[in-house]
Amino acid sequence: MASDFADLLAANAAFAETFDLAGFDGVALSGVAVVTCMDSRINPLRMLGLQPGDAKIFRNPGGRVTNAALDAMVLGVHLLGVERILIVPHTRCAMAMHSEAELRALVTAASGQDAAWTSWSVVTDRRQPCAKTWPGCARIPSSPNEYRSAVSCTTSTPADSSS
Ligand SMILES: [Zn+2]
Repeated sequence: MASDFADLLAANAAFAETFDLAGFDGVALSGVAVVTCMDSRINPLRMLGLQPGDAKIFRNPGGRVTNAALDAMVLGVHLLGVERILIVPHTRCAMAMHSEAELRALVTAASGQDAAWTSWSVVTDRRQPCAKTWPGCARIPSSPNEYRSAVSCTTSTPADSSS
C-alpha cells in the first residue's frame, strides 16, 4: 500500500525542504475565505491572486455551504481573521449536471454497492441567487451581522472559460 503513495511522499519530502511557513499562526493574511468545489481545475489561491497563508479554503463537491462549511467559516471569522467569504461554484460541475438520483445511480454502478445513503446537495441551476442555491448563506447560526453581510457569492471562475 505504501508504494501507492511513493510518488506523493517523494514530492512532499522535496516540498518540505523549501517550506517556509512553519512559524505561521494560521490567520488568513488577506482576510479571505473561499468555499469552492473539489474540482481539480480550480486553484483557489491562484485564481484570486493570493498566496499560501492568505486565505482559508474549504472544498467539497459543488462548493456547497454545508454544515461543515459553516463550521469552518465560523472558525475562520471568529478565530482566524476572515473578513470576506467568497463562495465559488463553477461550470461543468458534476454537482450541477446531475440530479441526486443520477449521482447515486452512477456511484452505485461504479462501486457495485448501494449508494442510497449519499447526499450531495445537488443544485442544477448554479446561477440562482446565493441564498436560494446555498441555503446555508441565509442560516448562519449565532453569527454577528457583519459575518452575514461579508458572505459573497460568485458564479464566475476561471473554469468558466473552459466551457
Ligand atoms: Zn464541481
